[in-house]
Amino acid sequence: ASRERLLVVANRLPVSAVRRGVDSWHLEISVGGLVSALLGVKEFETRWIGWAGVNVPDEIGQRALIKALAEKRCIPVFLDEEIVHQYYNGYCNNILWPLFHYLGLPQEDRLATTRSFQSQFDAYKKANQMFAEVVKEHYVEGDVVWCHDYHLMFLPKCLKERNRKMKVGWFLHTPFPSSEIHRTLPSRLELLRSVLAADLVGFHTYDYARHFVSACTRILGLEGTPEGVEDQGRLTRVAAFNLKERFAGRKVMLGVDRLDMIKGIPQKILAFEKFLEENPNWRDKVVLLQIAVPTRTDVPEYQKLTSQVHEIVGRINGRFGTLTAVPIHHLDRSLDFHALCALYAVTDVALVTSLRDGMNLVSYEFVACQASKKGVLILSEFAGAAQSLGAGAILVNPWNVTEVASSIGYALNMPADEREKRHHHNFVHVTTHTSQEWAATFVSELNDTIVEAQLRT
Ligand code: UDP
Repeated sequence: ASRERLLVVANRLPVSAVRRGVDSWHLEISVGGLVSALLGVKEFETRWIGWAGVNVPDEIGQRALIKALAEKRCIPVFLDEEIVHQYYNGYCNNILWPLFHYLGLPQEDRLATTRSFQSQFDAYKKANQMFAEVVKEHYVEGDVVWCHDYHLMFLPKCLKERNRKMKVGWFLHTPFPSSEIHRTLPSRLELLRSVLAADLVGFHTYDYARHFVSACTRILGLEGTPEGVEDQGRLTRVAAFNLKERFAGRKVMLGVDRLDMIKGIPQKILAFEKFLEENPNWRDKVVLLQIAVPTRTDVPEYQKLTSQVHEIVGRINGRFGTLTAVPIHHLDRSLDFHALCALYAVTDVALVTSLRDGMNLVSYEFVACQASKKGVLILSEFAGAAQSLGAGAILVNPWNVTEVASSIGYALNMPADEREKRHHHNFVHVTTHTSQEWAATFVSELNDTIVEAQLRT
């Protein structure tokens, strides 16, 4: 059976076209997050529909470009210069983009924008209609149509008007602002209504999804449900998708540590390198995300550790990276706790290689966030947590790079039933031995000790 087809509709095609002659084009693939994310979507056969970024006024040129792009599974939408000016530079980049990012315009610009608003919005709708025409031309029954971003908010409605049965999704790659901000947009109603024509509306975070739902309830007077927005019995599902899509098609390994000698970060990365070295088939199927929180940055020894880690990461990425992906994402920063929890939740294997560690909360937090994924914890036997999470984790000696490398392989290949058993073990422990309970027990023990001591005197 042939695979289902996915039509990805975005303002720009993932290709830059440069004209070389009357009927010849040079194409350059531009890599970006969306392109690499979709490479991981293996169950669909993907086609791209979008603007090629050039004005092609003549038919010979258009035909040649269509042909050249077809080889890259790309289908162009031809927009003339006037439309591009009003739709793209005007409505998209001068109105929607600043609004969605909470950027105020200077007063004069705002007045100018106010005056040109209607003509720009008309061009925006017209451009979206042109995208819809191309989709319609290439649509085959059963295709899934995925519209992207603020450029194409009018598209779901255009598509559904032509064909109610078409499966249409829309995803926003920018923030969606508070409904109070969206309220100031003259075209606020039309935009919301047309996005709602989609079957599924997606955002990067829960906050953006929440803002969208409240814009629909406050501005359109519709009913918001935990699932999405309801309009006369018809539900548009609204959801937040974040990191899962970012790393689609790859197993995610996670390290979260202060950049401290005790955490064994160089040891961890060297073990990962050894694993990649020995397992070429895993090289494009796994990514190590290392959050390395800067600490004691004015101490020379810590500075040295930082550059040492950077050097190793650079070497490994240079060695095993490809045009679209690198095996190690190394961040010298901290994340807020919510972002961190989201990361824990999408992780397949957490890697804690402390050379010494009092307890290591990261390993506990990881287990707590894995209720649905049931990922594997590789844990240093020199972390305090090994005493309590040893039954479910794979324990390693972080100094032994060979052992850690083979544990990585073991963890990545672990069958679901073993993962579940191990996770269950640790989950029970973590949820019954919370830090609140720990603190409460400690304080009450302390109290008792004091009372007993007093009684003895
Ligand atoms: N942490 C965080 N943001 C980050 C990295 C870590 O909030 O980007 C938190 C993490 O959730 C954990 C703590 O920092 O609660 C680290 O505690 P742990 O016991 O693992 O190590 P420590 O830094 O105390 O040695």
